[in-house]
Amino acid sequence: MSKWWMRALDSFSEFVDHVNTSLGRESREEWNKRKLQEHYDKLQSLDYLLMSEVLSEVMDFWESGLYHDLVVTYGSRDEILSSRVFKVEELSNNELMVLAKENLLPKSVRTMALKITDVNVFKTMHAFLETIYINYHGPEMTWEDNIHIYFGGCAERLLMGLDKFDEYSRTPRPTKDFFKKLAITQITRKETNEVENNMFLLLLDIESEIFGMGFGDSYNDFSPTMSGFIQLLAGCSAAHNNREFTAPEDIIMAYKTFFKLVKTDITVYRAPQSIVESMPEFTGYLVCDKCGVSHGLGPEDSADDFEDVCDCGGLLVYKESI
Ligand SMILES: [Zn+2]
Repeated sequence: MSKWWMRALDSFSEFVDHVNTSLGRESREEWNKRKLQEHYDKLQSLDYLLMSEVLSEVMDFWESGLYHDLVVTYGSRDEILSSRVFKVEELSNNELMVLAKENLLPKSVRTMALKITDVNVFKTMHAFLETIYINYHGPEMTWEDNIHIYFGGCAERLLMGLDKFDEYSRTPRPTKDFFKKLAITQITRKETNEVENNMFLLLLDIESEIFGMGFGDSYNDFSPTMSGFIQLLAGCSAAHNNREFTAPEDIIMAYKTFFKLVKTDITVYRAPQSIVESMPEFTGYLVCDKCGVSHGLGPEDSADDFEDVCDCGGLLVYKESI
């Protein structure tokens, strides 16, 4: 079996060796290729179950173009998603959000230094769910799609089931007990850091191969956000195994889950109709008394912020429903 990327990695090495011996120095691109090979070799040399499977997934992620597409979608999702955002009261109907807020620590110097699964780490998940959802759905997103992303149950499935997230017949319910365990998980063990760090750097090297060295600033937070999401999934794996200190196996499980997730059409996870109906996109309208044109207002919009005269010269009147 000789995949193109194995051959590519071989030729990278040969190429870098050639340059190094003939010139005695290397360009930034060659340096990146050498680092990519080093991080790959390092991970392959570690004797963990599922490591080679996950490394193969990393290369498929690159080869399939999915890595490229996700980075691009991630960078443009703010323009694609509905401008209507959830009200605090609306999110308080979301059990998962409430559990996270009540049990996880807020971001601090300490949680960052010890890589504790804090609220900030938790938040990275929805950035990824949005990205993956859009990648399958296409850019024609409606407000209802936002509701499916946040209330469709995909997040609960991931946290509770990890790589078996798609095997539940109905949305699992996370418990307070689980969140209490999750809240103390941290990545401080040397061997865990070694796996986490090398995987992060390998993916960063690949990103540089895809987009060129020092590509646009707009996508710069893709890698740190992905790293946070991996940390969250690894923390869940540790919590399910009653571990406070996240183990290398938890990082590997997190990546296994991640690579399955990005290949799954998560638009199938739909919020219950009652939830959709409880959060209408528009909570009021401005209607022209002359031509009848209407403009929807979200819960955060105030009628006072808008012109009260229509383009036709008529008067725009506020109505709760039309
Ligand atoms: Zn009008």
